[in-house]
Amino acid sequence: MIFIDGVGIGEKDADKNPFVKFGFKTFENFFGAIPHKNNSILKNHPYYLFPVDPVMGVEGLPQSGTGQVSIFCGINAQKFVGKHFGPFPYSTTIPIIEKQNILKHFKKNGKKVFFANAYPQIFFDYLNSGKKRLSVTSLSCRLSDIRLNNATDVREGRALTAEMTNSRWNKKLKYNLKVISPKTAARRLLRITSRNDFTLYEFFLTDHLGHGRIQDEFDDIYKNLDEFLFTILSEIDLENLTLIICSDHGNFEDISVKKHTTNPALTITTGKYAKQLFENISNLSDIKPSIVKYCK
Ligand SMILES: [Zn+2]
Repeated sequence: MIFIDGVGIGEKDADKNPFVKFGFKTFENFFGAIPHKNNSILKNHPYYLFPVDPVMGVEGLPQSGTGQVSIFCGINAQKFVGKHFGPFPYSTTIPIIEKQNILKHFKKNGKKVFFANAYPQIFFDYLNSGKKRLSVTSLSCRLSDIRLNNATDVREGRALTAEMTNSRWNKKLKYNLKVISPKTAARRLLRITSRNDFTLYEFFLTDHLGHGRIQDEFDDIYKNLDEFLFTILSEIDLENLTLIICSDHGNFEDISVKKHTTNPALTITTGKYAKQLFENISNLSDIKPSIVKYCK
């Protein structure tokens, strides 16, 4: 599972939608088109691209805290909380994360579970300081006794930085890691995936870009993401693996506004149970139960 924060299916308007403006070879090569609101289901078996409802009957703009609990725990968290909330999980959803996040589900069933992201030392310092505001994924790991990878794991090829190539860690955090291409990062993720029953990787720079941050890095991040996803879809073992790429809400697909959008979340499935996931997922809370049902 690749979770990409803040990517929806937007309008066919190059002034708003970077996918329309710049093209995206992952979409073009595997689906023959750039998805947009009037062409939001693209099927090319075993590749499926489709919209998923992140609003879920709750007024307002979808947010990461509730949206991600809906994805990873299989509930309508926005309805449970009574509003969209983020970026961190709402307090009353933390016991739900502890009890029923998807990583814990697979772990409890004796499966090998791996969260492929690595965290920099500054994050572990934050944890050790007693602060507890964590994203849904890192909190899911903490509450399920799943180890969080560090810089050594990146160096030794066992994990990926959230930005894939390591160049931001070097630039912003003064690491001296080997910079890898998005293609190498994708191959590393596929290798990790082949050794585990359930693997999760999270990419969130799309949401930062959608909020209008780090615009000087837009071109690099955009190209890297496309190359990374293209390599994953090109080289994945389609017979034995199932892949879902999903998001929690729109944002990046409309850069004319710096806020999240109410657009449907972008979802792609491929591999063994791609069709079943496509047929069973219509809102964020369908993602976990559908994975659990088919990918045993
Ligand atoms: Zn988000």
